[in-house]
Amino acid sequence: MKYIFGPVPSRRLGSSLGIDLIPFKTCSFNCIYCQLGRTTTRTISRKEYTPVKAILSELKEALRRKRPIDNLTLSGSGEPTLNSRLGKIIREIRKLTTLPLAVLTNGSLLFQEKVREELKGADLVIPSLDSAVQSTFEQINRPFKGLHIDQIIDGIRVFSQDFKGNIYLEIMMIKGINDAQAEVKRLAEALSGINPAKVQLNTVVRPPVESSARPLTITEMKAIKEMLGNRAEIISEYDRTEFSGYEIEAESEIIKLVLRRPATLTDLSNSLGIHPAEAVKYIETLTQKGLIGYKEYGKEKFYRAYPRKVKCLS
Ligand code: SF4
Repeated sequence: MKYIFGPVPSRRLGSSLGIDLIPFKTCSFNCIYCQLGRTTTRTISRKEYTPVKAILSELKEALRRKRPIDNLTLSGSGEPTLNSRLGKIIREIRKLTTLPLAVLTNGSLLFQEKVREELKGADLVIPSLDSAVQSTFEQINRPFKGLHIDQIIDGIRVFSQDFKGNIYLEIMMIKGINDAQAEVKRLAEALSGINPAKVQLNTVVRPPVESSARPLTITEMKAIKEMLGNRAEIISEYDRTEFSGYEIEAESEIIKLVLRRPATLTDLSNSLGIHPAEAVKYIETLTQKGLIGYKEYGKEKFYRAYPRKVKCLS
């Protein structure tokens, strides 16, 4: 399948079937923490990047399979709201299933009324907002030229006033970049206008595109959470026991591949025949367990296994 991936274990959404509306890697941002690699097409032009018909036909097929799915998520290879048929896709998905539908977005196009209108068909929208300060926003998200954080915050705020579903706002905390008190205070001010149901604090747990994106410790995360009030939560680690043996099988395939020779994210997703966004999840778990690591050569990360640790496991 080209446009549907998973279901993948999501720390927030349970078993989530991913729907990718965008070619790899097309986004209005080029975040320093992006797990998918550098943005190759940075744009704010909305187009039918992937055909609606093809997406829906793959979705029908995926829903026919008997794997447990808690929800559908529009996410994947970049920013989903760049797909100009977003509204139509959401309406058609509604005809196919009653499963809850979530959209992960960087929020950059929510200043456009049309985008806000199209997103209204979702149950849950998770915009990211990593800073309310323009210079920090540019440092972290490296946006398409001309995007301004005040305009983006205003777009999310206006959307939140009419949207009947839930909004969870995600903040990626990065050591030494957006964790100063003054930064968090500005974020708190922005949040008070948006009023999201939850504020989800994340840090750099997956291999980032730039080594300057470093994680906060749990103690530092808790201090930030305190500053952001009751709705703030630190996204807990995914509990893998809830899921089937499929994930374990995929992880052991990855280990086998990187034991043989170092491989990039693209190599791994091609070898396993899975979407890069799905491969990233398994890489995250294996990295956290200390079973694999990576080295950078040029602009690419090459994953490799730590044979001694893998041996201990077997
Ligand atoms: S918005 Fe998401 S997909 Fe786009 S560069 Fe940032 S992390 Fe990657």
